[in-house]
Amino acid sequence: MTTALSSNEARAKEYVDGIFAQLKEKNAHQPEFLQAAEEILLSLAPLFAQHPEYIEHNILGRIVEPDRIISFRVAWQDDQNQVQVNRGYRVQFNNVIGPYKGGLRFHPTVNESIMKFLAFEQIFKNALTGQPIGGGKGGSDFNPKGKSDAEIMRFCQAFMSELYRHIGPDVDVPAGDIGVGAREVGYMWGQYKRLRGAYEAGVLTGKKPGYGGSLARKEATGYGLVYFVEEMLHEKNEKFLDKTVVVSGSGNVAIYAIEKAQHYGAKVVACSDSSGYIYDSQGIDLALVKEIKEEKGERIKTYVESRPHAEYHEGCTNIWTIPCDIALPCATQNEINAESATILVQNGAKFVAEGANMPSDLEAINIFLENDVYFGPAKAANAGGVAVSALEMAQNSSRTAWSFQEVDEKLHQIMKDIYKQSKDAAEKYGVAGNLVVGSNIAGFVKVADGMVAEGVY
Ligand code: NDP
Repeated sequence: MTTALSSNEARAKEYVDGIFAQLKEKNAHQPEFLQAAEEILLSLAPLFAQHPEYIEHNILGRIVEPDRIISFRVAWQDDQNQVQVNRGYRVQFNNVIGPYKGGLRFHPTVNESIMKFLAFEQIFKNALTGQPIGGGKGGSDFNPKGKSDAEIMRFCQAFMSELYRHIGPDVDVPAGDIGVGAREVGYMWGQYKRLRGAYEAGVLTGKKPGYGGSLARKEATGYGLVYFVEEMLHEKNEKFLDKTVVVSGSGNVAIYAIEKAQHYGAKVVACSDSSGYIYDSQGIDLALVKEIKEEKGERIKTYVESRPHAEYHEGCTNIWTIPCDIALPCATQNEINAESATILVQNGAKFVAEGANMPSDLEAINIFLENDVYFGPAKAANAGGVAVSALEMAQNSSRTAWSFQEVDEKLHQIMKDIYKQSKDAAEKYGVAGNLVVGSNIAGFVKVADGMVAEGVY
C-alpha cells in the first residue's frame, strides 16, 4: 500500500513537473502567467497521486492552454480629433462549467501575460463559487487616467465594436476590473445593444441597478473578502472587533472591504493608490476616501488636507511596514514581495487575505505559510465579485431584481461555502490550514470532473 502510494506520488510529481516545464518553454515571455500557473500546478500533485485518472485524461496539459485568445485593434478619436490606437484582448480560457466569465481591465500595463494569468485564475475562482460560470478575462492597454468622459465613451464604444462578435449571454460575459466600473460597463452595454439589435442584458455584469445591474454588485468583492476573513478569524477564535487592519488600494475592492471591516468594529488605519499611501492612526474616514476617489476622482494624498493629523507617504511598498493584525492587499498583482511579507510577520500580522488578484508573490506566500500567518488566497477570498456577477446573470435571465439584503445574504453564504470547501480540501489532502492548496484543489476538481465527463476536445 505504502509502495503503491509513493509510486503514485512519484508519477504525479513527474507529470506536474513535465507539464510545467513545457509551459515554461512555450510561454517564456509571460512571467505573470507562469507565476499564476506555478502556484496552482504545485498544489495539485497530492490530488493526482490519489486520482491518477486525471493524469490519464491529461487534464492538466489541456487546462493550461486557453480555448482561444482574441487580440484586436481599438482605434478611437481623442478630444483633439487625433486617432489613437490601443490593443484589446479577450482570453476565453475554459467554458466547461459555464459561459466564459471574467472582468475587463483598462490599464497601460495590460498585455497577453497579464490577461492569461487573470483568466487562468478565474477558471478555478469561478468554480469555487458554485455558480455555472467558466473562466475568461479581457481588457486593453488603454490608460483611462486623465481622459475626458467623452473620450472614455468613444474608447468603450470602439472596444465593444470588435468584442461584441465574440461574446453573448450564453457565450462569454465580461464585467469590470481595474479601470472599468459601472460607467465603462454602461457605455459598452449601450454599444453592444445597438450592434446586436437586442436587449441581451445578461451579456455584461456590473451594470447599474437601473438597467439590469444587481444591487450589492459594487460592494460584493470587498464585502465578500471580509466575509471570508470572518471565517478565517472564527477558525482561530478571533473577531474583527478592535483588530488593526491595513488595506492597500482605494478603488472598488478596497473601499468596500474597508466599509465592511469597519462595520464589524475593526480599525482600518491605512489605504493607498498607485502614487502612495495614507496612515490615519485614528482610523480611516471612509466617507472622505469615497468623496476623494469615487466622486472627485482625485489622488489619495488629498486626504491629509481634511485630516491633518494623518500622514501621506509617497510610494506604495511601505504600507506593509505599518503594524497590523490583518493585512488586505486590494490594489494589484505582486504588491507584496518577500521583504514586505517578512516585515508584516515581524510586526505581528496574523491574517492576510487577498482582495486583489495575485497581490502576493510566491516567496511572500511561502513566508506567510511558514510563519503561521493564516493566509486567504485571492481565488477564494475575492470570489465574491464574480459570484454576485453570476447572481446578476440569474436575475437578468429571469427578468427579476432581488433586494440588496437578498443578494448580500446569498453572497455571505457563498463566501462561507468557499471557505469550507478550501479548508476541507486542504485537510483531505494532508495540508490542513493551507488554503492555497485547498482552494486550488477544490476549484480544480470541479473543472477536471467536467472535462472528463465532456470528453476530449
Ligand atoms: P480599481 O481600478 O477600482 O482600483 C484599483 C486600485 O489599486 C486603485 O486605488 C489604484 O490606484 C490601485 N493600483 C492600481 N495599480 C496599482 C499599482 N501598480 N500599484 C499600486 N496601486 C495600484 O480596481 P478594483 O478595485 O476593481 O481592483 C483591484 C484588484 O482587485 C485588482 O487586482 C482586480 O483584478 C481585483 N479584483 C477586482 C474585482 C472587482 O469586482 N472589481 C473582483 C476580484 C478581483 P490608482 O487610482 O492610482 O490607479
